[in-house]
Amino acid sequence: MELYEFSAVELSRMLRARECSSAELTRSVLERIEKVEKRVRAYLTVDREGALAAAERADERFAAGETLPPLSGIPIGVKDNICTRGMRTTCASKMLDNFVPPYNATVIERLQSAGAVVTGKLNLDEFAMGSSCENSHFQKTANPHDLTRVPGGSSGGSAAALAAGEAILTLGSDTGGSIRQPAAYCGIVGLKPTYGAVSRYGLVAFASSLDQIGPMARTVEDAALLFSAIRGADSRDATCAAREYAPLSLSSDVRGMRIGVPEEYYGDGVEAAVKAAVHAQLQELEKAGAKLIPIRLPSTPYALSAYYIISSAEASSNLARYDGVRYGFRSERVENLEDVYLNTRSEGFGDECKRRIMLGTFVLSSGYYDAYYKRAKLLQQRIAAEFTEAFKSCDAIVTPTAPDTAFPFGAHSDDPLKMYASDICTVTVNIAGLPAVSIPCGKDAHGLPIGMQIIGGKFTEEKILSLAKACEEMAGGFNRLPALD
Ligand code: GLN
Repeated sequence: MELYEFSAVELSRMLRARECSSAELTRSVLERIEKVEKRVRAYLTVDREGALAAAERADERFAAGETLPPLSGIPIGVKDNICTRGMRTTCASKMLDNFVPPYNATVIERLQSAGAVVTGKLNLDEFAMGSSCENSHFQKTANPHDLTRVPGGSSGGSAAALAAGEAILTLGSDTGGSIRQPAAYCGIVGLKPTYGAVSRYGLVAFASSLDQIGPMARTVEDAALLFSAIRGADSRDATCAAREYAPLSLSSDVRGMRIGVPEEYYGDGVEAAVKAAVHAQLQELEKAGAKLIPIRLPSTPYALSAYYIISSAEASSNLARYDGVRYGFRSERVENLEDVYLNTRSEGFGDECKRRIMLGTFVLSSGYYDAYYKRAKLLQQRIAAEFTEAFKSCDAIVTPTAPDTAFPFGAHSDDPLKMYASDICTVTVNIAGLPAVSIPCGKDAHGLPIGMQIIGGKFTEEKILSLAKACEEMAGGFNRLPALD
């Protein structure tokens, strides 16, 4: 077994036992990147020198006998919408092609102070808008389970890198499913934390009231480890909750656990293989002593519309800053100020960003605000209230993560509504500000991974990760890389 194949928890132990060094581990990951990256195309930037230097620093501290945080010396890839000082941060957009942030996101500061090794920046849909990674200005990332298919999105690079062994852990961001849906498509674990559990400082904003950074990993314990390192209050993000957290301790004992099963998430739009896999897992959980409770979340069918209205409204405002004046791309075809704005934005943004800007501007305009934006915000309250009600009778809710498995490149490219439908099971969680984790749950007839989603009440990450761990044990472990060679 190569070093890049181990879990972070295991590597952390090996580094402490001096069974390997961080430099060896980092080199193993970098060599793997060199070997498979031409086919997977997960990275937009690989920071070879920076990673090796960080690994050597970690090794020196291990050699000096220091007690170091668990992530010390572990190679971690970062979605390219999270600011890294001195390292290009593009959001996979022509608009930020040349942008090198002068500061680090809070999560990056935390990784660095934990001694982690940042390997580079990972591909995404432009400004995190999309469900397949095909909206990247630079390249289309492939799914390591089938290179003719998409890895999901928007954190497709972060998910594919893990499945291909090109990182031990990665960071993604999730506004409507962007951590969970690619995790499902690539057969890995992805946690979207409670809104406010992780600082958004330095995350390039898409829809600020929904965005959260979260961990992606090949095992549940690994996701918990990365989550523990990045969560917590931050004076630079007023929406980050001022809470103290006890260390996470996961238990795989599900006896007496009440699991809500909402029928709205198992409807006609969900592929039969996906439904069957999730039902099989639910039955296993029942056998292990959990109680299955049928519940209703009646506003679910309206969630997708509410999500695309709210997120596009916020996106249209957040993207207004890219005007060619202060930083980023500026059109060369300019004769006056209007040209600077118009041509910069016309040339700098891809089609999907433009679509969201137009939709967002429309739903916020005075004639339509009441009909669209206001109603979407009312629906948001109702969806959140239905979850609160449901959590009175259950500890966690289980659904499919996505209605399907990874689709071939181009399958939904000319039909944005079809693409948006990939998010049907995930957007409600962001709308209600809840935590949810996607875990692998079997495969379909093509051998493609299926994802199962576990949703919890606010700040119950420990509970949903525990349930996830129980499923992982039942499956005999998740950390299996597809054969790419
Ligand atoms: N696919 C969804 C969208 O396009 C979610 C994106 C995300 O979570 N960043 O908006």
